[in-house]
Amino acid sequence: MLKLYNYLSRKKERFRPLRPKGTVGLYTCGPTVYDYAHIGNLRTYIFEDILRRALVSFGYRVKHVMNITDVGHLTSDADTGADKIEEGAKRESKSVWDIASFFTKAFLADTRKLQVLRAHILAPATKEIPSQIKIIKQLIRRGYAYETEKAVYFNVPKFRGYTKLSRQPLAQQRTGARDEVIVDGDKKHPADFALWFKLVGRYKNHVMRWDSPWGPGFPGWHIECSAISTKYLGQPFDIHTGGIDHVTIHHTNEIAQSEGAYGKSLARFWIEGEHMLIDSKKMSKSIGNFYTLTDLEARNFDPLAFRYLVLTAHYRSRLNFTWDSLKAAQLSLKRLHDFVHELRAAKLKNNARPHRIFKNADKKFFDALANDLDTPKALSVLWQLVRRYRNTPKDFDPKLVLKLFLKFDTVLGLNLEYKASSITKRSALVENLAKKREGYRQQKEWAKADKIRSQLEKLGFTVEDTKGGYRLKKLPPT
Ligand SMILES: [Zn+2]
Repeated sequence: MLKLYNYLSRKKERFRPLRPKGTVGLYTCGPTVYDYAHIGNLRTYIFEDILRRALVSFGYRVKHVMNITDVGHLTSDADTGADKIEEGAKRESKSVWDIASFFTKAFLADTRKLQVLRAHILAPATKEIPSQIKIIKQLIRRGYAYETEKAVYFNVPKFRGYTKLSRQPLAQQRTGARDEVIVDGDKKHPADFALWFKLVGRYKNHVMRWDSPWGPGFPGWHIECSAISTKYLGQPFDIHTGGIDHVTIHHTNEIAQSEGAYGKSLARFWIEGEHMLIDSKKMSKSIGNFYTLTDLEARNFDPLAFRYLVLTAHYRSRLNFTWDSLKAAQLSLKRLHDFVHELRAAKLKNNARPHRIFKNADKKFFDALANDLDTPKALSVLWQLVRRYRNTPKDFDPKLVLKLFLKFDTVLGLNLEYKASSITKRSALVENLAKKREGYRQQKEWAKADKIRSQLEKLGFTVEDTKGGYRLKKLPPT
């Protein structure tokens, strides 16, 4: 029985799909593509990936939808500040369209390296303008939105239950949005937020612009998620996911918009991932602890070591990132890969008993996941098996252990299968180079050996020297 912590009720609840035999609708708030994702963002996408994979492992079919914010996300979550995409374009002296496309590709490359499965539907906000206009029109019709000379706003006090997700009094929300009061004196309530910006004042020269019933302009940030989730998943859908930092404004506004427009709830479960700290501090560009996946790779870390590190903490607890913890994660991951490699090479033991150890491990692993995605506990099941195998290898059929590990990996996504199978997939050229290098190494001709190492890396392989000789590993695709 799968239980998930529903942030809406602040309780762990049994998960049952809205349509008993139907597909589970899963929505994920996607990236704002004006810069590289930082590792805190990536942690959220990894937890959402685990959720999706776990659902599949429990026999559900999943339809996963994610938006790409390629317009209109302002530098403050409230309606003030500059458009992040336009800022990015200025910084890099490129067009806004180039910036959005460049960082969308970068985001997809990062998530691919982290084995995060791509959403079935990836919807850039700029391609979904008509559906955003449609929902704004619907909000005006139902009296939840009004127009001023500068924008169309959502009328917050009109929508009862505005704070049901955040449980934060509206007065606090007002403080959060106080800068806006100065921006538009025609706003009825300080917490009202923009659904559509007109091209006036600071936005007069906004590059990305579309026609609308309220004149040319661009959509507010929050409306895209309401429009996209409802369009592709219907309403209500099963699960909405995101980062906890978006509860008070973004997710709250999504609920207000969708439920205001269509008079029914937006999503059954709200699952929010916790923050990540860096050396116990909040990540920020100003103190220089803002890391991207590329920064990790530049220090020779495997992206999957970061994935492993993320799995060692429960998604609802704060994860404190340190370089030492990443080093430890890389080592653990290497040990798992070595173990799988060893299992592949091992011969079947005739007296092995396919006994209850496997059944127990299997049950424990999936019970841990079913308990609100307890990945630390799930990982510990793997390590228990490793220890037991090492202590009494003759008790085990290595092929069965391997099969179980690969089954676990369909959820963990640590690429155990891939690394192992890549060993058989290398070409004769790679093989010969590695042998040649080993020869140089034995003759202590380090310079020549190193030269071949970099040749191998260009071919997509890394070579590790072990006591028993060398071992080739395929580098993750770039
Ligand atoms: Zn969203």
